[in-house]
Amino acid sequence: MAVPDEPPTGSCMPGDDQPRWPRCPGCGARRLTRCPVCYTAGVDFAWADPAPDGTPIERIICPTCDEVFAPRYARQCEWCGHGFAEGYEPPAPPGPREPVNRRAVAVTLAILAAAAAVVVYLAWLL
Ligand SMILES: [Zn+2]
Ligand SMILES: [Zn+2]
Repeated sequence: MAVPDEPPTGSCMPGDDQPRWPRCPGCGARRLTRCPVCYTAGVDFAWADPAPDGTPIERIICPTCDEVFAPRYARQCEWCGHGFAEGYEPPAPPGPREPVNRRAVAVTLAILAAAAAVVVYLAWLL
């Protein structure tokens, strides 16, 4: 009679390993944070050790570049769209780039030409 394997411990239960991580009040999902250096986004960065100077700010470690930073979270829940009072704006999807405004360039050139004409006129008067 085979002995069944040990059941997995609770450490792999989702959500229980990071009770400090802020959650969305709408759907309970972890809030998305982002590394300020390499822009790696995630919801399960490891917590860093407390700052040596005693700063009572919780910091997390970027798994990509090992940057230690105070987490900022996305302003909007990526799952249910819940809006928060603070947080960074999630990156907008890349859209069509605005073409160079030819009209603005033409207006600028016209103004410069007019100014040059005035200078020439004044010089001619003198
Ligand atoms: Zn990073
Ligand atoms: Zn949510």
